[in-house]
This record gives sequence, C-alpha cells and structure tokens, in this order.
Amino acid sequence: MSQAMLARTAGLSRQTVHNVVHALTVTGQVHVDQGANGRETLVSLRATTGVVIGVDLRYDVARAVLIEFPGGTRTDTEPTLLSAARDAATEDIDAIVRLVERLMADGGVTPADVLGLGLSLPQPYDARTRLIAPTPLMPGWAAEPVVPLLAERLGVAVVAENDANAAALAEARWGAGRDCADLVYVMAAYGLGAGIVADGRLFRGGTGMAGEIGHVTIDDRGPVCTCGKRGDLSSLASGRALVNQMRALGDTRATLDEIIASARAGEVLSSRLIADAGRYIGMALAHVVGMLAPSLVVLGGPLAAAGNVITDPIAAALGDMVIHPVVGGTRLEVSALGDDAALLGAVALVAEPYGVGTEASPSWLLPPVSRPPHSAATSRAPTDARSDSTEKGHS
Ligand SMILES: [Zn+2]
Repeated sequence: MSQAMLARTAGLSRQTVHNVVHALTVTGQVHVDQGANGRETLVSLRATTGVVIGVDLRYDVARAVLIEFPGGTRTDTEPTLLSAARDAATEDIDAIVRLVERLMADGGVTPADVLGLGLSLPQPYDARTRLIAPTPLMPGWAAEPVVPLLAERLGVAVVAENDANAAALAEARWGAGRDCADLVYVMAAYGLGAGIVADGRLFRGGTGMAGEIGHVTIDDRGPVCTCGKRGDLSSLASGRALVNQMRALGDTRATLDEIIASARAGEVLSSRLIADAGRYIGMALAHVVGMLAPSLVVLGGPLAAAGNVITDPIAAALGDMVIHPVVGGTRLEVSALGDDAALLGAVALVAEPYGVGTEASPSWLLPPVSRPPHSAATSRAPTDARSDSTEKGHS
C-alpha cells in the first residue's frame, strides 16, 4: 500500500504517516519499496520473527518441518505414511493434520504463532483454482480442495506449490543458487519436473504450470506415459521409467535406489540406463536453456545421487544442442539441499512474502544427519567456457 493510501485510509496527514513509517522502518517492522511509477513508495509489513511450517507430500509419505525465524531453530517430526493412490484423500488429510499438530506440539507453538504452512506437492498445482491437476496417480487428491480443507482443519494459512517449483525456490534462497538470480531446477525423481527462478522470483507462467518439463515429447514413438502422452521425458528418463526398463531386462525386483547405487558402483546395465536418462534430460533441458539462458541448472531428486553417471551426459547433451554463447555461461550443479529441497521450498513459499529467512545461513536449515552425501558434487556444463560467455543474472 502506498503512503498516500495509508494516509487516506487512516485519516492522518501524509507527514504523520511518513514519520510513523520511518520509525517502523528503523525498527525493521515495515519494508518500504519504490512503486512501479517511481514516485510512490509502497509500504508492507515485515515480520521479523515468525514460525513457518513446511510439508513435503510425496505419494506414499509426508514430511514436515517447523522453522522459527529469525533465530533459525528447526524442529522435525517423524514422517507419516500416505496412500495417495486411493480414490479418496480423507485418510491422508487426517494423517497430515495429525502430523502438523504433533509438530506444533513438539515445537511448543499454537496455530496463532504460525505465519503459515507451505505444502509441496508431487503433481502440477494450479494456484488460481487451488486444485491439484487431475492425475491417475493421486485421484483422491485431485478431486478434493485439499489446500482450503487443510487451512480450515489446522487454523493456519496454507499455500501450495508443485515440488519442483518449491525446490527451485529453496535452492535459490539457501542452496546451490544463493549467488544467482536465474536458475532452473530439475526434480529427477519417480516423475520429472522443473522449477524456474527468473530475476529472483519463482516463474509460474500464465497458467501456473511453468516448468512441466517431464511431459514434453522427446521421442514420439517412445513408451506411453502415465499422463497419456507418448515418448515424453518422464516416459523415458524418470525414476519410474528406469524401474520399468530394468524390469523389461529381467530384473523384476530392482528399486530406484538400487539402480542408482549399482550405477555408482559401475554396474553396466544400471549405468547405461541412467546415462541414457541423463542424455534425455539434457535434450529436454537444451530447449529450456536455449530459451531462458539461466546462470545455473540444478539437478535434484534421487537421480542426482548418481553423480557424474547422470551429470556428464546432461552436460554433454547441453553442449551438443545449445550454442556456446548461451550454454557457456550456464553452470550445472547437483542440489545443495538434497532431499530437503522441496520441504524447505515449502517453508520459503510462506517466509518470502513476510521477508523472513532472507538472510538466513543454511547451516541451521539442514540438520547434520540429513546432509546429502552428494551436496558438494559439482559438475560444470561445457568445460571450455570462454571469457566471452554471456553469463547473466548474477546479483
Ligand atoms: Zn507424461
């Protein structure tokens, strides 16, 4: 709200409002921004302290974390099991309500202390309708207005976001992208998605569905995806696809974690499948990088644990398919927040509008036990980056 509007609404003189705003700015309670027309100054409330809850919902499990800003205390609770494949989400919603209530009790807070709850979802989410996109993987969740339901049951404001978008935001704030304003995050898990941060903000696109890289066609004669499309990236390179490919090769019991571990150990079949997946991910990313020229591409999700087995083919595909002046300035790195990226992204969704957590050091965000083993792994896209690269967007 502008200072002029504040004066009109409150029936105070402009000078009085100016004085009060100045005093509250000094104490850090309000934030003053220049308006779009360059003349008005816009005033917003700034919470210097606040409790934020993040929930990372996957298909079969939900995790929750409570962060108390600005001190940086973190409370975790035992994850709860879900069955998102059921036709009704009622039992899952009950389970999440219990999980969050337990977390608030463990953290010694009440709903009145909580700025809000961020929810990361493993499916596309439309912020306008507050509904999860229709999907055979979570039929009950797509049918229910889950976000308003949770807000009503818990008595706290709830915002939701697709997991790749949430993770992109967390990496930009506290992870691999802390030094840059433009990044693309790829969530390589059982499904595949991407989140885009442009000019420091999450880019959702006109429909809120930006970054759905998993369902763009790579090979129109390829296998059919759960979304009904043929030969899209998820059908070829997702964790689900890798498990299916291993089954077709006769290993009917291999899990995604086992395939990744085997590839890291140099086993030929797993290495081949993951290297091919990397090549496909690189092909899809080539279009994104060619269009957006981000400073950084972050690879996250379980597949990132394959390290160079997957990052080398991604970098090679980018090098092959994007002209050097564009890709030469793009770094490729493995997620710094690992398994916590979407969970902390859910926290960031709530914290950002209040301006809390922006100066936070990530040291307290990650408990030492959950620090991912691959957090330090770094791989650069085309290594022949020249000094005339068009690296942009660093802040
Ligand atoms: Zn698909």
